[in-house]
Amino acid sequence: MAYKEPAPLIDKENPLESMMSRFNIAAEILGLDEETYNVLKAADKQMIVHIPVTMDNGKVSVFEGYRVVHSTILGPSKGGIRYDMNVHLDEVKALAAWMTWKCAVVDLPYGGAKGGIICDPTTMSVGELERLTRAYTLSMKDIFGPDRDIPAPDMGTGPREMAWLLDEFSKTVGATTPAVVTGKPLVMGGSLGRTEATGRGVMVSALAALAKLGMDPKATTAVVQGFGNVGSWAAKLLSEKGVRIKGVSDISGAYWNEAGINIDDAIAYKNVHNGRLEGFVGATPMDPADLLTSDVDMLVPAAVEDVITEHNAPFLKAKLIVEGANGPTSASADAIINEKGIMVVPDILANSGGVTVSYFEWVQNRQGFKWSLDMVTERADRIMNDAFEKVYETSQKYDIPMRIAAYVVSIDKVAQTYKYRGGF
Ligand code: NAD
Repeated sequence: MAYKEPAPLIDKENPLESMMSRFNIAAEILGLDEETYNVLKAADKQMIVHIPVTMDNGKVSVFEGYRVVHSTILGPSKGGIRYDMNVHLDEVKALAAWMTWKCAVVDLPYGGAKGGIICDPTTMSVGELERLTRAYTLSMKDIFGPDRDIPAPDMGTGPREMAWLLDEFSKTVGATTPAVVTGKPLVMGGSLGRTEATGRGVMVSALAALAKLGMDPKATTAVVQGFGNVGSWAAKLLSEKGVRIKGVSDISGAYWNEAGINIDDAIAYKNVHNGRLEGFVGATPMDPADLLTSDVDMLVPAAVEDVITEHNAPFLKAKLIVEGANGPTSASADAIINEKGIMVVPDILANSGGVTVSYFEWVQNRQGFKWSLDMVTERADRIMNDAFEKVYETSQKYDIPMRIAAYVVSIDKVAQTYKYRGGF
């Protein structure tokens, strides 16, 4: 089929509906009874807070913040905190449920949660951000806790915010409590290997998928969309395995080199150009809308949600999609992708290397002991490979796509645990 019109790059669907449509298919395959279905589908808890913060100009602004705990059936809930103007309760609910399935698919003893504050961190001073983070932490003090709910960074937050959160929480309980949050600075209990963990997991699961497809990484071509933490690490580690990365993109545009982009050069370039690839001379600029439909074997969407949609899915040429981002494929594209026979390593599996090493951070904090980078990497790779194998076997057993298989594995584990624990 000829590619006629450039497809819109982003076509947002309601993430909660997208997640639920896959959940429903998996629940039906598992023959989930109505009672368990109702328990797993709804979030346990939703906290909405209004936080007054004195801004630098002396005026008080009130910020709306959320924490949604979707499930604690497998253990304390785990999930990041997002600072963004587009934070929406429905999205936070979807992301919290995704965390439940993600932790379950890699067999971590965690449930799922997510938080967010409607704010624009790019226009706020460091002092304003610190006051906002401390006030949010205080308002969530009865939800957070190393055995209850363990936050982490997400869009708009990083190690700095996690350090404030740890400090404020520790004050409220009167004891330094590093295991209450992950993604901390290395000097205050962060884990070695956390920075590259998600990109590394993307690489490990991509290699596992290529092996199933009988494809040699050294003869494989790819494009990576998004060149931030996940995209740049995935691109670097995949290229070290011999994959030829022909195209990369970020918010500044898309860049192509038929012979393969030198990823170390691209990373070095963005590091001294405000984190952006704009003006990179090792590749030629191309239309970003064409990146995902270009003629390569593998796509690694590692930027934002809903970039593979019913509009561009008919034109995909790749044989494999490895989802570094959360929710890069809208539910409306699933049927088209399946019909084309494209293998998808879904987000809840492909990008779970990050939460896996966050779990290691929490374990180290509780042990009061620091692991070597080799130990972190070896254990994380093993977990990723085991999870991939389990999802692949499930997809073969039921003759279903890998995405639904990942949901089947997760929902089955949470449902079985619920049966043992019971309700009221
Ligand atoms: P980041 O902020 O470090 O990088 C995002 C990148 O995407 C940047 O290069 C940005 O320029 C680019 N980008 C933004 N909009 C784009 C667009 N429309 N087209 C092309 N590029 C665009 O973020 P990150 O931590 O790398 O996260 C990326 C994705 O991976 C998100 O969906 C996130 O939820 C998911 N994720 C991240 C982690 C983690 O450990 N960082 C873990 C699991 C999932």
